[in-house]
Amino acid sequence: MKIVVLPGDGIGPETMAVTVDVLQAASKRFNLGLELLHDIAGHASLQQHGATVTPALLEKVKNADGLMLGPMATYDFKDEAKGEINPSKFFRKSLDLFANIRPARTYPGVKTITSAFDLVVVRENTEGFYADRNVESGNSEILVTPDVAISLRRITRECCERIARSAFELAMQRKRHLTLVHKHNVLKVTDGMFLDACHRVAQDFPEVTVDDFIVDAMMAHVVRAPARFDVIVTTNMFGDILSDLTAELSGSLGLGGSLNAGLNNAMGQAAHGSAPDIAGQDIANPFSLVLSASMLLSWHAQRSGNAAYLQAAQAIDQAVEECIAKGECTRDVGGKLGTHATGQAVVKRLG
Ligand code: NAD
Repeated sequence: MKIVVLPGDGIGPETMAVTVDVLQAASKRFNLGLELLHDIAGHASLQQHGATVTPALLEKVKNADGLMLGPMATYDFKDEAKGEINPSKFFRKSLDLFANIRPARTYPGVKTITSAFDLVVVRENTEGFYADRNVESGNSEILVTPDVAISLRRITRECCERIARSAFELAMQRKRHLTLVHKHNVLKVTDGMFLDACHRVAQDFPEVTVDDFIVDAMMAHVVRAPARFDVIVTTNMFGDILSDLTAELSGSLGLGGSLNAGLNNAMGQAAHGSAPDIAGQDIANPFSLVLSASMLLSWHAQRSGNAAYLQAAQAIDQAVEECIAKGECTRDVGGKLGTHATGQAVVKRLG
């Protein structure tokens, strides 16, 4: 398996270095023959190539089997004409990575404000309120006058149906319970279409119990009783917000692994951003990116039918769980180790 590795900005180089160590250890133990193709994106690429991402990089990714994308300082990238392209958007749109799978679960050893839970947010990744990717050309945020601005939200039946299908398929592998999250009481047309598409797809999955919540009430329900949820499917922005909440409820945003998956490509990417407030201090939690890498290996196992990748992914997840239980982790989840030492603790368990 060939994986392109892009460390990214802020804490990215630190957490990606750990992730690379973990992938190499897993490759050695399970004979995966992983080939890691190192390259750059974000500020490093802007400096070197005049753009945060380049067509040549996209070609490289298309010819590989997967991509690990580090966190990006997207807030800094304001003008595409100056090469300041949002790398997350670039890969999600160019590779049509429509399903953003964001698991969140509690771990023995991590103090949380809720009871134990284990859920997955399935977020649509290619349209919705994301103005930089929901139109064919240009941007759907418009400054009408200096004091009037409009942002358009695109919802299509096709994108709703395919994200619903991904969520139902995942629910079938779990507890067969899917929750639809929407704002149908106000967004009657767009979220009406989303709900209608989900209910149509539901007919193909009669074993899955379906319920639904309005997104604002969902915030209360998921804090109050997260264990009542299994798989949650929602549109782009609601999913982005909800999944940061569920990651933090699990103990830290630094536990929020995620996979962006399409039909032919996948990209592991932590749910959080570049965390400039803690960058360069060896305190960032690397588990979000490590768990994202594990998800990428699982995805490849399913696609290639090679069970060794699944075993490697399970071993990584187990090593992370053991490290957390023993306090061999960063401060945000109750440990005392730095980023690098946390990575070494995982590598030791894989060895
Ligand atoms: P952030 O997600 O980077 O950080 C939010 C908070 O969580 C901070 O206090 C940070 O220290 C903490 N945190 C994040 N990751 C952590 C980790 N691994 N371990 C421990 N603590 C962690 O959000 P922000 O500060 O609002 O954004 C910073 C930059 O990241 C911005 O430019 C933003 O646009 C960008 N961003 C990128 C992505 C992405 O690449 N997918 C996602 C969100 C934000």
